[in-house]
Amino acid sequence: MSEIRVRFAPSPTGYLHVGGARSALFNYLYAKRNGGKFILRIEDTDQERSTEESLKMMVADLKWLGLNWDEGPHPETLKDMGPYGPYKQSERLKNYKEAAEKLLADGKAYYCFMTDEELDAAREKVKADGHQGHVESPWENGTVADALKKISAGDKAVVRFKTRHLRKDYILKDLIRGEVRFPSDMIGDFVLLRSDGMPVYNFCCVVDDYQMKISHVLRAEEHLPNTLRQLMIFEAMGWKTPEFGHISLILDDDRQKLSKRKGAVACDQFMKDGYLPEAMNNYLALLGWSHPEQKEIMPMQEMVEQFSLDRVHSAGAVFDRVKLKWVNAQHLRSLPNADIYNLISPFLKQAGLNLPADLNWQMQSVEIFKPYMEILTDAVTLYTPLDDSKYEIFAESDEALAWPTSKAVLEAWKDCVAAHAGETFNEADFLRIQDEVKNKSGQKGKNLFFPIRIALIGKPHGAELKILVPLMNKSSILKRAEKALAKVK
Ligand code: GLU
Repeated sequence: MSEIRVRFAPSPTGYLHVGGARSALFNYLYAKRNGGKFILRIEDTDQERSTEESLKMMVADLKWLGLNWDEGPHPETLKDMGPYGPYKQSERLKNYKEAAEKLLADGKAYYCFMTDEELDAAREKVKADGHQGHVESPWENGTVADALKKISAGDKAVVRFKTRHLRKDYILKDLIRGEVRFPSDMIGDFVLLRSDGMPVYNFCCVVDDYQMKISHVLRAEEHLPNTLRQLMIFEAMGWKTPEFGHISLILDDDRQKLSKRKGAVACDQFMKDGYLPEAMNNYLALLGWSHPEQKEIMPMQEMVEQFSLDRVHSAGAVFDRVKLKWVNAQHLRSLPNADIYNLISPFLKQAGLNLPADLNWQMQSVEIFKPYMEILTDAVTLYTPLDDSKYEIFAESDEALAWPTSKAVLEAWKDCVAAHAGETFNEADFLRIQDEVKNKSGQKGKNLFFPIRIALIGKPHGAELKILVPLMNKSSILKRAEKALAKVK
């Protein structure tokens, strides 16, 4: 069997969408599973929309996901890496021109001089005649020599692929969808090169897939209609067609195509929101593929070992944000505490939190907070009440502080904390002190708990105290109690 070579071929016209990331992942897994090569090709012939910035963003996102490619732009320098470059289509124009010349010389394509107005009129006529046909160009049977003369005289022409004589069904044995049949008359003569000489996607894609020796094209289902054109071009060039597998769409929970109306769809947004790359890969793999034993949580290595196209389903996969979070939580909680602290640190810093530098405290805090963390940004909510400089008494506390019973509770709280022998409190210390305050003040229920909560976190609702108190020290708790007392005096 010849070498497995697959590619991910993004157009650098924006961010890397999770759908693109999933296509990249499936190609990566397929290559790794089969000892093949994973190629990154940049489809930037749409020069108005393609940007270097978008290319850099996509490269950064793929690197973050760890989907390292064997050939393509170098991940740091973006210089070509591999024997089949250039890997950017804008640098391969010569290749497309040569392929187009071959099709022209073989009579499989022609220069078409129809103007936009003529094309519109011809389309209207086809419609008015009520048949499903296609525009027939009067230039279809012109000679290349005549056309070149007209072009050198300043006329503009596109190069069109001839379809009318094909008259057959193209049968695609799709590796994921099974047999797909395309009658050739589904489409009319289509453009290969625009009048400015720029090639179109379908043409570049075929030339590159052939010249880069791509064995399998795994891409999103939305490209299925392009595949007919591509099959026609492969055949006309006399090139062996790669295998194709079209991966189902990713859907929103209302079963529409995934869109940003429902939340983030850009890969880097998930990074900024505190998702782990291993969790993203794990979840994206499950959007269309399943483990033979229905395992849901697994590292990349296991996905590589188990991946096969037989287990990729053709039905649309719903992007379930709750499940993604859950998958992230499983990966996050399985990490050593020190790694978790390193991962959350940049988020805590970014939120401007001032927290103890003591390593033991940091490990203890992760141990306590871990069960409450699903994504890294959850740490910000969890750690904020621990930063003394962020302590304030929020307006929602006013009502409870105005109760005539609150002062006695706060005083008792302050005294009991002060009387505690150690500098820190464990959960049992906290519960015991709460009981002492109850006895001393004669208050219970919310009359007891609200003032204590306010004295600790500045508000009567929110974070769970018994997990916070063990991470605070006596002087901090006392200072907070004084601030609360000052409000009732
Ligand atoms: N540039 C195309 C895209 O971004 C690639 C399609 C393909 O994989 O053939 O959708």
